[in-house]
Parts: sequence; C-alpha cells; structure tokens
Amino acid sequence: MLIYREQLQPSLSDFGILIPIYDSTVTETFKSLIKDPRLGPTRERWHIRDYPIDVTKEDLLRVHSPDYVERLYSNELETELLKTFELLDFEGNYYRYDPSKAKYPLVKLFDRLIDGVAGTCACCREALVSGFCYTFTGGYHHAKYDTGDGFCVMNDLVIAARRMQAEDKAQNIWIVDIDAHKGDGTAPLCAGDPSIRTLSIHMADGWPLDRDPYLPDGSLHPSFVPSDVDIPIASGEEADYVSRLDEGLQRMEAFGIPDLAIVVGGADPYEKDGLPSTAPLNLTLRQLDERDHLVYRRLHELGIPQAWVKSGGYGAHVWEVFSQFLLWVLPERLGLS
Ligand SMILES: [Zn+2]
Repeated sequence: MLIYREQLQPSLSDFGILIPIYDSTVTETFKSLIKDPRLGPTRERWHIRDYPIDVTKEDLLRVHSPDYVERLYSNELETELLKTFELLDFEGNYYRYDPSKAKYPLVKLFDRLIDGVAGTCACCREALVSGFCYTFTGGYHHAKYDTGDGFCVMNDLVIAARRMQAEDKAQNIWIVDIDAHKGDGTAPLCAGDPSIRTLSIHMADGWPLDRDPYLPDGSLHPSFVPSDVDIPIASGEEADYVSRLDEGLQRMEAFGIPDLAIVVGGADPYEKDGLPSTAPLNLTLRQLDERDHLVYRRLHELGIPQAWVKSGGYGAHVWEVFSQFLLWVLPERLGLS
C-alpha cells in the first residue's frame, strides 16, 4: 500500500547537485507514519519494503525515441543529465552544481532515476491488486519524446502506463496530475492515444509555460500540447482551485471509467514550497488536504484503482503535505480511521 525502501538511493546532493530536493522529505514523512498510534503497530499491513521489478530499454522505447534512449545508454548520458537538471548556465559554467562536493560521478544518478521508474511500475501493479498504492519515487512528468526536461529524464508515468498495458493488467488509464507545474511531457506523449487520458491542473504562468509557444520551425512547442483536460490556475485564484479540479475530474468521466489512475501528487503548489518557480501558486495546507481528499474520494467512488506518485515538492516544509495525506488515507484504507 505504501512503497518505501529504507535503504535510500544516493541523494541529489551526493552527486553535487544543489537543487532543494531533499530526501529528508521522505524520511520525515515516513517517521510521522511510524509514530502514528494507528499506523505504527500495523506497519506490516501497509509498508511494502521493496519493489523487485526491472525496467528495461524496451520499457523506455515504448515511450521515448530510439535515438534518445540510445543517448541515455551511451557516453552522452552525462550531457543529457547536465541539460535536464539545468546544471549549466548560458555561458556553459556549472550552475547549482558543484562536482567537488560529489560522492559519486554524475552518470551514477541514472541508477536512482531508473529505480524511480521501477517504483512507479510497482506502484501501479500493487494498486491494480489492492486498489491503492503510494510511492515516494517518480513523477517525472516533464520528460518528452526525445529529450529530458525540468529535472525529468524519463517519463515514468507513461512508461508505467504502457507497461501495465503490455502486461495486460490495464488497458485504459488516467494520469491525473496535481503537481504545480503542467504535465507538459505527459500530454504530448499521450496525445492521440485515447487509451491514456490526461488531466493537469497547474500554474497558469511561469515555467514551463513561459516559453515561446512555437519552435524555430513554426511547430508547436511540446509544452503547449494540451492535456485532455487542462486547468490553468492564475495567481490569486487559489480559492477556486478545488472546485475547478472537481469540475475537471467530472470532465474526465466523459472519456469512460479507466482500469487505473496514476496520480501525480506533487506538494509544490504548497505556499511553503521552496522552489522559486512555484511562487505563483500558493495553496495552504488545508487546501492541499481538500485537493487530495477530493481526488482520492472521486476515484474511490468510481471504483478506479489508484497509484499515487510523490513528484514535485521542494525545501524543508513539503513533507507536511505528504504526511497529512498519508496519515489520513492509510488508516482509511485499513479501516482504522
Ligand atoms: Zn512540480
């Protein structure tokens, strides 16, 4: 029900990357669950300690271009990582990156990322068996067909969806993205594929929608390809967030009830999120509670198995968002609330 491997993969700071994605988010959240008087004594009923699942090139090739996948498995990997994690400035100097502080070479980061993809696949499998699963890994919703983007190298959401389809475990799937940033990799990857329907509620302004909507050749930039349901929220519209999400979920029902929903449950819409680019959207902890309850309850009422992945959330406070949801949903699932 909750996938969490206590032996964590090396953190971003172990590679000399200075982006505020802290593993303490995960450890603090898990600590709060173990301390809970309902969840501490029942840990064996909800804690999944490992996820023995392999992610292969074949999984990546269902989603990404052969050329891009080859680059990831060649000596061009480091270049791809520097680009996707935005570790070089316009003049080619290191930015938010200090190799002298690294314990491991940058290319070893690939193991952590593949492990994240495996976590999402395992979360989907478990959700299809028990109805609900949560994983602290994954949520790489900016990765596109032939490039990484916005700290996302591979799109684990679409990779997991297509793997569930290939294993004949699910045919129709929703990807419900409630992270602060638009799921601008997921939308173009699933455009034209009616078996995967996408919803994204996100900041109307700021990254990735502050780019030029058109590429030099005149075609639409992939970030502007619409999701099946897009809900842009402008600064100051936070009070309408939950009701607009509710409407969006109702619009999704018109596509038919799927076999599985993957929820990209980012905490970065939080007013205390530490990433400067999420400043335009500032939900309170209470509003995030309402958001998560709404998504969970709606999917549950419709009988849709739900696989939640952690995705975005930056700085020292975002664990409060994940903890709040899990302290409610796990006892609910276990009949302990
Ligand atoms: Zn985000």
